Amino acid sequence: MRSLLNDRLRDDPLATEAADIVRSCVHCGFCNATCPTYQVTGDERDGPRGRIYLMKSWLEADAAGATTQAHLERCLLCRNCETTCPSGVRYGRLLDLVRPRVNETVGLTPWQRATRALLKNVIPYPRRWRAAVTMGRWLRPLLPAAIKRLYALSDVPPAFKPALHARRVLLLGGCAQSVLNPAIDAAALRVFDAIGIGLDRIPGVDCCGALPYHLGDEPVAVRIAKANIDAWWPAIEAGAEAVMATSSGCGLQLRDYGQLLAHDAHYGPRAARLVSLVRDPLELVDASSLRDRVRGAGQCVAVQTPCTLQHGQRLGGRIEPLLRALGWEIAPANEGHLCCGSAGSYSVLQPGMSTTLRERKLGNLMAAQPTAIVTANIGCQLHLAAQAEVPVKHWLEVLATALD
Ligand code: SF4
Ligand code: SF4
Repeated sequence: MRSLLNDRLRDDPLATEAADIVRSCVHCGFCNATCPTYQVTGDERDGPRGRIYLMKSWLEADAAGATTQAHLERCLLCRNCETTCPSGVRYGRLLDLVRPRVNETVGLTPWQRATRALLKNVIPYPRRWRAAVTMGRWLRPLLPAAIKRLYALSDVPPAFKPALHARRVLLLGGCAQSVLNPAIDAAALRVFDAIGIGLDRIPGVDCCGALPYHLGDEPVAVRIAKANIDAWWPAIEAGAEAVMATSSGCGLQLRDYGQLLAHDAHYGPRAARLVSLVRDPLELVDASSLRDRVRGAGQCVAVQTPCTLQHGQRLGGRIEPLLRALGWEIAPANEGHLCCGSAGSYSVLQPGMSTTLRERKLGNLMAAQPTAIVTANIGCQLHLAAQAEVPVKHWLEVLATALD
């Protein structure tokens, strides 16, 4: 697919990067078969190939209006199309480059602007977010049942003091997860202690920057990435074994620091070094080192593999064998490749499509009547838990509660 930049964009290096990605698409349409929004609407413009055409029109002819904006906004950024694409089109990067600029050109309604400003200025900052969640807790009796259920997750778990270990891994503090479900990192501490690895949190390393980045605020995402690299750098220089996030969405954003800072002479090489150290917990925990410690497994659970894990980090199919090897039964579920509709802030910004996809996902996950749903990302956990009839847990929580 050829793409030439219009006069206004000719000297913009990010537009040049976008045009290069558009050129790598051969227009075969294989990606439509696995795109969740195309599956729901059947509209070519709600599939990756159609969206690439819309972005190409904007790059070449500056042609974008409310229709283009609506179809780009409806994209989940699940990157399922990247898994399917035989030509290696970096669709996620393309959308992150073009969508904010289309929104600038076309404009957002005051309501859209206010919602985004609230999301970007509260959630990535744990103190502000904690204050908002605390306020919500006061109003809990007045809240709908689905939201009330989510507050149960935010109860602070009992303190746990791990042993000292020679192996050390740096753990991202997190933002939304650290407030809404601190039990996940507490579970990670227990599980990693059991396999002889200590987890270190460096003060000031909280948000990974994914939320502002995917809401189109690349400068804030870059600022957060640089600050995190600076804070982690002494520990990296001192030989930290790995850098880890317990939420697969944050892990993916850490891996994306390389492309985010590629044009920066100082931070580019540091980002590349950090990316080489990023590991998902699934890459460090193996069944053999836990087999003697796990008690009380045996339940039948359904696994929801977040898109950020399977399409972003390309680590799909790892939760099931780990749990199976430790004694859990895995419930069969169709359409494991499709997004649950959470997709970061998508559930807030596109509630209709998000709910449709959640219902479809829960129908598939619950078909074999599991006793729980297991996931690897806080966003998916909250989104599914709001409607699921069984508990939804991070796989680390499931493992930690079964440790002796
Ligand atoms: S990122 Fe997901 S929703 Fe967006 S075009 Fe690709 S497959 Fe479809
Ligand atoms: S599968 Fe890849 S090359 Fe084919 S249309 Fe989709 S993005 Fe383009």
